[in-house]
Amino acid sequence: MILEVVTYGHPVLRQNGAEIAEITPGLEELIADMFETMEDYHGIGLAAQQVAHPIRLTVIDIRGVTDRPSTLEINGEEADPTSIMPLVLINPELETEGDFEAAPEGCLSFPDIFGDVIRPGFVKVKAMNERGESIEFKAGGLLGRCIQHEVDHLKGILFIDRMDRETKEKLKPDFEALAEETRQFLNEVG
Ligand code: ZN
Repeated sequence: MILEVVTYGHPVLRQNGAEIAEITPGLEELIADMFETMEDYHGIGLAAQQVAHPIRLTVIDIRGVTDRPSTLEINGEEADPTSIMPLVLINPELETEGDFEAAPEGCLSFPDIFGDVIRPGFVKVKAMNERGESIEFKAGGLLGRCIQHEVDHLKGILFIDRMDRETKEKLKPDFEALAEETRQFLNEVG
């Protein structure tokens, strides 16, 4: 089922996600729906907050983007980033590494708003997958950036919070208009 992606201004986007205790049939259904939704919206990552579930779950699939490379290391060995796609991260813990890099990002909760975001180049990830297994790997490039963006969502942090002041000022009229639109919509639906 395709879910509605909430837009900036919806309070759920600022909520800290709850830890997930176990993989229930309901959670499996939500994961399947999130993949279907992400595909429909042409996204490469979607956090549960964006479909109004404040829990520590995100789905990722970077295979649709071919012009921005990714790196992957599992147990210190280089691996093919597509080998772990589609990727489900439950209760992820991140440790970032490397120099900060600026690169463009968008967000399904901010339609048509794009800007450079500054993030560390690499991220070490510990999480649980959709089968309840522990997974551990290190990612860089687009995948590393996407994971950092999505895991931020799980803590109520948005990409505009990570932009430099100049970029944020430039985009401010756009995202403030979006927040106003979202608030009006929420008032109408009550
Ligand atoms: Zn996002």
